[in-house]
Amino acid sequence: MKQLTYVLNDSLTTEQMDRMVAEDPAFVHASARLLIVFEPHSDFQTMRERIRVGSELLPNTTIVGMTIMGSVGANAKMPKHAVCTFLLFEESQVHMDVYDCNHMTPREAGRHLAHKLDSYEHKRAILCMPTQVGLNPAPFVNEVTRAHGELPLFGAQAGINTLTNGRSVVFTGDELYERGILTVTFCGENLQVKPTYNLGWRAIGNDHVITSCTNSGRVGTIDDKPAVSLYQRYLKISLDDNFFDNVSPFPLVLRSGKELVARVPTGFYEDGSLQFPVAFERGSHVFFSYAHPTVLLRETSISANEMAMFMPQALVMFACSNRRVFLGNDRADYEVACYVHACESMAWAYGNGEIMHTAEGGGLLNSTIVALGMREGEPTGTPPKSLPDPVLVTGGRPIPLSERLATFLDATTAEANATIGELEVLAKRDPLTGAFNRRRMDEILHYEMSKRRRSNDLVLLMYDIDWFKNVNDTYGHDTGDVVLMDLTRCVQSCIREGDTLGRWGGEEFLCLLTELTMEQAYAAAERIRKRVEQTNFLRVGHITISIGLTDARENDTAETFFQRVDQALYDAKHAGRNCTCVR
Ligand code: GH3
Ligand code: MG
Ligand code: MG
Repeated sequence: MKQLTYVLNDSLTTEQMDRMVAEDPAFVHASARLLIVFEPHSDFQTMRERIRVGSELLPNTTIVGMTIMGSVGANAKMPKHAVCTFLLFEESQVHMDVYDCNHMTPREAGRHLAHKLDSYEHKRAILCMPTQVGLNPAPFVNEVTRAHGELPLFGAQAGINTLTNGRSVVFTGDELYERGILTVTFCGENLQVKPTYNLGWRAIGNDHVITSCTNSGRVGTIDDKPAVSLYQRYLKISLDDNFFDNVSPFPLVLRSGKELVARVPTGFYEDGSLQFPVAFERGSHVFFSYAHPTVLLRETSISANEMAMFMPQALVMFACSNRRVFLGNDRADYEVACYVHACESMAWAYGNGEIMHTAEGGGLLNSTIVALGMREGEPTGTPPKSLPDPVLVTGGRPIPLSERLATFLDATTAEANATIGELEVLAKRDPLTGAFNRRRMDEILHYEMSKRRRSNDLVLLMYDIDWFKNVNDTYGHDTGDVVLMDLTRCVQSCIREGDTLGRWGGEEFLCLLTELTMEQAYAAAERIRKRVEQTNFLRVGHITISIGLTDARENDTAETFFQRVDQALYDAKHAGRNCTCVR
């Protein structure tokens, strides 16, 4: 196959390009012809004209295209001219499918394509281009990848010029779509494809929870506070024109299968919510992330070297404009050059959120570079020499301060989290038995009483060891401690996971049982009592316990509820011990 890529600047018009390509022998003899157009503006008239000329001058050519990301920040040098790339196959086929999401949901579109893919023979990869504003392509991607997870799905959401608030579109040779999803499936018995994906950001700090969001990518609150406050609190980022430049080094990352995916806010609203190019799911755990530029470049060069070894005849790459903002123009150009090294005729674009799903996972991405290399048949010749490691190129310098600070933050966060974990245990648990302590038990009791709806769904059980003083006197206090530990393990094994066991004091324990009747609770209490009676405790042999039992009544407070179970236990002691009494 052959790829021809053109930039439509002042010295080349659409018509000149189309006439030139139409005469190329690779075009004339092609089994399938695909033209992909990347438009860095939302000028619908120019686009329609380009499509019209192409449809006229390029017979039997599948034309697809999308708008790409325009200016994003003050200094980022973004593409200004349309890029056209022709994929001319010798024996493979392409199938174009397009879904107008004004008439069907992305999920329905995904199901439709998943079904259609069954009939495509020798399918190797899918190029996916959804529009951006007001369209969440996640259900589409999910439906397709659920049915055809082995098939690389790659692409990007159509971009917009963020400064002029342009509209994103995807288009075919016939039509523009402002809410649509366009796919091209590449099929061929001898068609080989190679997908690559690199992120390079790593998670730092604690996790945060997305507590409210819409499915168009707007996040209202994180940790129940206005989303912007996350960036204000931790990074002192103010809400002004530099917002994107300031947040772009710190994408939020979350897990997707084996992959880490990143999300960068593209803007903020007056109510404190943030706009992301890709929607989150409520309850997702996210982290700030950070990357050292050299680490990013190294990962890019590794991916590009892998791609070069594959020796692609064609390559389409989508990158995130965030990288250009973060890395600066020179290093972003270097990233592109890495892929040019792998395939000179390659075409690339900045979309608004990348897409790459392979058998390894992935999906809708941010801050990445995704690329798909293609080749018909086996490679000929020798692969280009490996790119040198960018760390060596820029090497010999001390580690930058920012990188050392990120490492410092990583290490201190890990230590602080370990300490918090230990403190939580200390604050909630009795150190001897590991059961909840009195304070925590009291909290749980109050909480359960406050949310209780029916009166018979909460039962309190209290037990006390019979004649425990004797155990201490006979075997010593240390042995008594061991008995308390073993007894707790014994009782814990008799109750359900949702039941709470706490040490109320000395050798008195409380157990809160939920969602069961008094009969069931009594049976449970007797089961516990008999299990204890039958257990052979180390050195001490057999001990018994007395049990009090009561259920919560309509007018109960935590205090009256507790008083009753205390009395029930008192009854059990008076009834001769080793028994269960109910009040
Ligand atoms: P009964 O409850 O059947 O009336 O008799 P008892 O001998 O168990 O009497 P009581 O409940 O009044 O005595 C509680 C004893 O439990 C007193 C104390 O020595 C012992 N005890 C309390 N806390 C601990 C502890 O942490 N470790 C040990 N080894 N013993 C404890
Ligand atoms: Mg006792
Ligand atoms: Mg006691």
